Amino acid sequence: MKKSLLTLLLLIFAFMLSAGTPKYVFLMIGDGMGPGTVQMYNKLFPDNNLKKFAAPVLTGTDNVFGKTTDSAASGTALACGIKTYNRSIAMDKDGKPVTSLAKLLKKRQWKIGIVSSVGINDATPSTHYANRKTRNEYAGIISDIGRPGFDFFGVSLIKGNAKAGMAQLKKVLSSSKYQIVNGKNMNKLKPENKNAVITGTNVPQLKPGSVRLCDITTKAAELLSAGDNRFFLMVEGGAVDHGNHANDASWAMKEMIEFDAAIGAALSFAAKHPEDTLIIVTADHDTGGLTLKDPSKLDSKFYLKQKAFLAGLTSVAVKLKAAKLPADQIIKQLTRQVGIENITADEQKKLNYACSLFLDGKTTSTDKFTAGMGYGRYNPLVIEVLRTRDRRNGFYYTSFGHTSAKVTTFVKGPGSEHFKSPLENSDIPHRIAAAAGMPELLKKEGKAAAKSAR
Ligand SMILES: [Zn+2]
Repeated sequence: MKKSLLTLLLLIFAFMLSAGTPKYVFLMIGDGMGPGTVQMYNKLFPDNNLKKFAAPVLTGTDNVFGKTTDSAASGTALACGIKTYNRSIAMDKDGKPVTSLAKLLKKRQWKIGIVSSVGINDATPSTHYANRKTRNEYAGIISDIGRPGFDFFGVSLIKGNAKAGMAQLKKVLSSSKYQIVNGKNMNKLKPENKNAVITGTNVPQLKPGSVRLCDITTKAAELLSAGDNRFFLMVEGGAVDHGNHANDASWAMKEMIEFDAAIGAALSFAAKHPEDTLIIVTADHDTGGLTLKDPSKLDSKFYLKQKAFLAGLTSVAVKLKAAKLPADQIIKQLTRQVGIENITADEQKKLNYACSLFLDGKTTSTDKFTAGMGYGRYNPLVIEVLRTRDRRNGFYYTSFGHTSAKVTTFVKGPGSEHFKSPLENSDIPHRIAAAAGMPELLKKEGKAAAKSAR
C-alpha cells in the first residue's frame, strides 16, 4: 500500500516537472490557412510537420461584431488578446490602443522576434509592435517599428509603396540602433545587438540557394536564445492567403511547403530544448473556403503539373489574346498549363463561356476584371481553367475572400495543457501568458496601458 502511494506521488511529481513553464515560445501564423487548406496539405504531404503535433484545437476567428475577420482584427486578437473591428492594428473596438503580449514580455526582459514572409508592415506582424487605427497607415506602421525595442525582425517585403517604404524602414531601424543585413549575411549578426534581416523578396518565391523563411526562423531562435534569455518569436507564413484569395491551390500549397519548413525549424530548436519550448501553430482565418468534395480524386502531384501561378497564367492568356488566336486554341493552351488534356463537352461549355467574357472584355496589363461576374476580380478564363482542374481533383473553392470557418491550432511543449479546450483566437495570447506563469498579464497590463495612452 505504502509502495503504491509512493509511486503515485512520484508520478504526480514527474507530471509537475513535465508541465513546466516554457522559456521559449514560437507563435507561428499561417495567414489564410483554413481547415480545407490543412486537410489538402495533409493529403498531399502525409509526413509533414503538423503531424508531429497532438490533434489540433478548433479556433474561432470572427471579429468583435461576429463578422468574418480580416488579418488586422485577427492579428490584434492573436497579438493582444482582444476582439476588435476589421482593419484595427492593436486598437480596441472604441479605437483605444492595446498592448501586445510581445511588448509586455519585452518589459519583463524576454527577447522578442517578429518574422514574416510577406510585408513586415502588413496587418499580421504589425499588430505586435504598432498601434494604428487602420492597417492602411503603412508609413505610420513603419515609424512605430523601433519603439518597443524588439530584438529581431525578419523582413521580406513592404506593404504599400515598396521602394519608399523600404528606405523608410532602413532609416527607422538604423536610428533605433538595429544591425541590418541581407539574407546571405545572417551569420554576421551578433546576439548582443538588436538585429534585422532584410531579404526584399517574398521568401517562398526566392531563387534556389537563397535564404528561406525556415533559415530566418532558425537564425532568429539562435540569436534570441543566446545568453540564456527567454524569447517570444512570431513567424508568419503570409502568402497562403494570397494563393487562396486567387483560388489557386497550387500557389497556396507551395506557400504551405515553405511555412511547414519554418515549423520544422521551430521543431528542430524544440528537439534541443524539449522541456523549455512551446510551439503554437495557428491561422488568422480561413481564405477561399477550400473544400475537399471527394478526396479520393485528389492527384497527389496535381500542384506540380501547374506550370505557373495565377499571375503567370494570366499573362499567358493576355499574350494569346493579343496574338488573336481563336478561342478553342487559347483554351487548349491554357488548360495544358495546368496539366489538362481531353476536355469533356461539359468542361468545354464552361470554358467557352469564360473565354467569351475574357475575349469580349477590356483587357488591361494586370487583367483585373469586375467582381460580380462569378470570377472575382480575376481573369474569367484563368479561373475557369483552374476550376476545371479542381473539379477533376475533387475539390473546389467557395469564395475569393475570407470565411468564418474555424481554423486549427496545433500546440506542442510545456504549457500545452492550457490549450486543451476550444479556443477563440483572442484566447491564445492569454493562454501563452498562463503557460508562462503570468495568467493575469494581458488582463491587467493590457488594460492599464490602454488607459494611460488615452
Ligand atoms: Zn486575406
